[in-house]
Amino acid sequence: MAASRKAKSGADNTEAYDVIIAGGGFAGGTLALALAKLAPKSFRVALVDAAPRDSGLAARKDARGLALSAATQSLLEAIGLWAGLAPNAQAISSIEITDSPLNASLRPHFLGFDEEMTGRAPRAHLVEAGALLTAISQAVVSETAIDVLAPDSVDDYETDAFGVRARLASGKTLQAPLLVAADGKRSRLRERAGIKSIGWSYPQVGIVATVAHERPHHGKAVQHFLPAGPFAILPLKGNRSSIVWTEDKARGETLMAGDEDAFVAELTRRFGHRLGAITLEGPRQSFPLELQIARSFVADRIALIGDAAHAVHPLAGQGLNIGMRDVAALTETIVEALRLGLDIGSRTMLERYQRWRRFDSAFSATVMDGLNRLFSNDNVPLRAIRDLGLGLVDRAPGLKRFLVREAAGGTGTVPRLLKGEAL
Ligand SMILES: Cc1cc2nc3c(=O)[nH]c(=O)nc-3n(C[C@H](O)[C@H](O)[C@H](O)COP(=O)(O)OP(=O)(O)OC[C@H]3O[C@@H](n4cnc5c(N)ncnc54)[C@H](O)[C@@H]3O)c2cc1C
Repeated sequence: MAASRKAKSGADNTEAYDVIIAGGGFAGGTLALALAKLAPKSFRVALVDAAPRDSGLAARKDARGLALSAATQSLLEAIGLWAGLAPNAQAISSIEITDSPLNASLRPHFLGFDEEMTGRAPRAHLVEAGALLTAISQAVVSETAIDVLAPDSVDDYETDAFGVRARLASGKTLQAPLLVAADGKRSRLRERAGIKSIGWSYPQVGIVATVAHERPHHGKAVQHFLPAGPFAILPLKGNRSSIVWTEDKARGETLMAGDEDAFVAELTRRFGHRLGAITLEGPRQSFPLELQIARSFVADRIALIGDAAHAVHPLAGQGLNIGMRDVAALTETIVEALRLGLDIGSRTMLERYQRWRRFDSAFSATVMDGLNRLFSNDNVPLRAIRDLGLGLVDRAPGLKRFLVREAAGGTGTVPRLLKGEAL
């Protein structure tokens, strides 16, 4: 099955690989590394990314702080990335959830996770998006089993009984038994494969920024459910936090276009004064928010991973964690197929991956969507009901421990790489 490194097949200069990955972002880059480390030695990966290699996937300005689950941490450990990230990763040691109108003088605590997160409980960590992308891009470039083709993109492909031939914008042609679409939310390959998505755009934007504050956060993450949408304060290393501010679209656009003082004043109204005075550190950015689930995660010799397969509301910081579950499941499926001498792009192999991942992703997307709908409004009777619900959860330690395990990626059929087990 394994192709020889950069083997040329025939007169048309087609380069042969074992897998072609379109998209070298978080999901595609991590899959390339996982396969390079865990598949047999001769396995060759072509990683094609639309962004230039030197300015770097890594050098892109991304103001997000990403909450990585304990399961994602296990995957990053297995591929040798976690040790480099750990010194700047902030563990989340407790979570507080509030639900109140914006002008409420007090934001009563409705639900908290504190003792459920101590001891051996799996912890999430906050990592800056730029740091994670830098780590991934440096590792893929130095991995001899991976050829990075960037800036370039997979423009088109065709399949036959033996494999897939991908045509790149540069004019190159690659062939392999399997093509993985990791080309993000607006996946061109998903469209080319004729796979439709179910979903909708939210009338909200996600504003992100890093803030410095006077007092320490002690690892506490805070989620204020406000009428326009959830406002999250996520602890970074030092006296710094990452905010994910879901705001009504028109209002969000006005805030982004306005001057910094006005932005910080509005930010402070939501952030509160618990951590002292705040200042902006770095740029503010806003992201359109969508729910999107591909109707199929596979097509003939194609597998979709990451945002190409599913995009979810960021209110629980789960989008990339769900994508990392795809990476772990697809790696396990491919490595096992290789051991049995099977075709890694066969329908059977792809169906196994799809059965593993599609229901779980759709379930997570639906839960995020439901929470956003339930909380992003100012309906007084609805607030009373949901606050009663939060209060009941707060008094049910067993349920809280389950929720912590679920958020950590420790429930359901978990791929071995996410449990810290060898393949
Ligand atoms: C405000 C906000 C906050 C978030 N916070 C969190 C969080 O705390 N925790 C979490 O787990 N998730 C979070 N997410 C979700 C997370 O950011 C995404 O799930 C993640 O970025 C998806 O990674 P990806 O690699 O699938 O796609 P992308 O990051 O979009 O990467 C796609 C890659 O494909 C390349 N590409 C595109 N087209 C082609 C082509 N034709 N050929 C080759 N290459 C191509 C692009 O250059 C890019 O490198 C958040 C999202 C938002 C919007």
